[in-house]
Amino acid sequence: MEIQKNLKFLRQKSKPVKEIDRSVYDLIDQMTDIIEQELGAGLAAPQVGILKRIILVRFSNNDIVPFINPVILKRSSEKDIVEEGCLSIPDQLVNVKRPVYIRIRSLDIEGDIIECDLEGLDARIFQHELDHLNGILIIDRVPLIDKIKRIFK
Ligand SMILES: [Zn+2]
Repeated sequence: MEIQKNLKFLRQKSKPVKEIDRSVYDLIDQMTDIIEQELGAGLAAPQVGILKRIILVRFSNNDIVPFINPVILKRSSEKDIVEEGCLSIPDQLVNVKRPVYIRIRSLDIEGDIIECDLEGLDARIFQHELDHLNGILIIDRVPLIDKIKRIFK
């Protein structure tokens, strides 16, 4: 399995997982291997060429956790700006503004609903990976002022 770097492909929206079957387990296993190899902070299924709503997040305690059909229920009005990279867009770091705290809901690998609060880097990685499921890339979140600076550099 290779990391998908085709931006046209990556800008597509992923479809919800209807059944958590063998193919989902296999996909999550393969994605876990890739995160470990690449030392990634997270990975979304479209990044390995599969348009399904599955993401993996490596939390600050180093656990790699899969989320199936994840959604954000609440976002804090407090935001911060942190430089992010993406395995699909090598050698580019961009400043991305995101809410600091989020409340999320998802299915776990057993198909059970989980709801929890995330903050800081954990919340940021979750949001970055969820963006992938909606076809949004970090380069789409660059503030206009940074784009202008880049053009005139
Ligand atoms: Zn990414």
